[in-house]
Amino acid sequence: MSAADLLKKIKDDDIEYVDIRFTDTRGRLQHVTIVSDLVDEDFIEEGFMFDGSSIAGWKSIEASDMKLMMDTDSAYVDPFYAEKTICVHCSIVEPDTGESYERDPRGTAEKAEAYLKASGIGDTAYMGPEAEFFLFDNVRYSNTINKVSYEVDAQDGSWNTDTEYEMGNMGHRPGLKGGYFPTNPTDDAHDIRAEMLSTMKRLGMKVDKHHHEVASCQHELGLLFGTLTKQADEIQKYKYVIHNVAQAYGKSATFMPKPIYGDNGSGMHVNMSIWKDGKPLFAGDKYADLSQEALWFIGGILKHAKSLNAFTNPTTNSYKRLVPGFEAPVLRAYSARNRSGCVRIPWTESPKAKRVEARFPDPAANPYLAFAALLMAGLDGIKNKIDPGEAMDKNLYDLPAEELEGIPTVCGSLREAMTELQSDMDYLLAGDVFTRDQVQGYIDLKMEEVLKYETTPHPVEFGMYYSC
Ligand code: GLU
Ligand code: MG
Ligand code: MG
Repeated sequence: MSAADLLKKIKDDDIEYVDIRFTDTRGRLQHVTIVSDLVDEDFIEEGFMFDGSSIAGWKSIEASDMKLMMDTDSAYVDPFYAEKTICVHCSIVEPDTGESYERDPRGTAEKAEAYLKASGIGDTAYMGPEAEFFLFDNVRYSNTINKVSYEVDAQDGSWNTDTEYEMGNMGHRPGLKGGYFPTNPTDDAHDIRAEMLSTMKRLGMKVDKHHHEVASCQHELGLLFGTLTKQADEIQKYKYVIHNVAQAYGKSATFMPKPIYGDNGSGMHVNMSIWKDGKPLFAGDKYADLSQEALWFIGGILKHAKSLNAFTNPTTNSYKRLVPGFEAPVLRAYSARNRSGCVRIPWTESPKAKRVEARFPDPAANPYLAFAALLMAGLDGIKNKIDPGEAMDKNLYDLPAEELEGIPTVCGSLREAMTELQSDMDYLLAGDVFTRDQVQGYIDLKMEEVLKYETTPHPVEFGMYYSC
């Protein structure tokens, strides 16, 4: 809605508060709540000053002032607050120059869209993310799994890992792989998901379905695709609604990529396409009815996949998902058929729906940074005509060792992803979409997580080594 529409709505609907929201580097939604009487045309035009020094990885205390600029088009009435509140997503600018603050993820997403236009390759990038999540009882870690036990064999010192299941009456409960997707009452979260989806619909989000996913307690809700920055806004709303509806049911939702050992993790596949002058650029007569540009785009994604991991798989936990056997990719390969490679081309007869699906991203990603980085890698592929090689139409999990050799993989750890980003960032810096300082700040922030994780004794280690 326009600024005028927003002000009219505040008046007509007796809105008490305006909640201005932005996203930090780690992808967390932040907010400040303003009494609506203070929000007028000047407020919208001039922006709202705030102290950015308390946001991890942002400005230092000496130069901490920043300005939040509302994107009134993103406004929605909050479905959870007791008092009538309208929420607006913001981008962040420097108060003195009015330029985009270089570490603002939403600003980076906007710059990536502008870069696409300026490149002449296309004018619109569509993103269709599919974020999976788990719902657990608030009082206990998991509905189904009591504990994971680790045993060291006394004879030969080898160790085994076993997942113990809750015993007792197992009727009407999804087993570890039984959730996908019998009807209720086995699917006991149907009503929660339906309420999540209806809430999103009331917020004006374009939704299409909801279903149980493959792992126990795992779910997915479907959003229709949208343009890059707006679709990243939608993911932030998606998570917000899911967390809050889950809370109301005494559950907690997690977008952590691999909460359960030995079962599927949560991905956030990202379907992507570029359009130019109202025409889809990715439809053509090459492999899987793709265009040459689409193949080069895939070439860019595969080439930069390891440095992309820093943004698309940004937690130490992310790399516990990227292992063989759980529908998550490991090898940097593409295919129209199988789901085990990094890039899949979903089947469609319609040239308009022709798209490329990156399967390695996960829902812990900051959507603004991840979408911007994916687009930049794909555009680098098109600009430099990067050949993605032959498609791999086999189940990549079953390849014999000799065939596996030579197929590059994604990163195996967050540390590796940060090292890769450090040495492969030029494609992100094109057109000043990302800045070197921003990427360095990101690496420094994430290395804090790496170090904390690597230096913390792990429960698995107690099982393996305590008695040694
Ligand atoms: N959960 C799988 C993943 O980690 C994806 C399953 C699916 O294809 O929907 O990517
Ligand atoms: Mg799924
Ligand atoms: Mg998918």
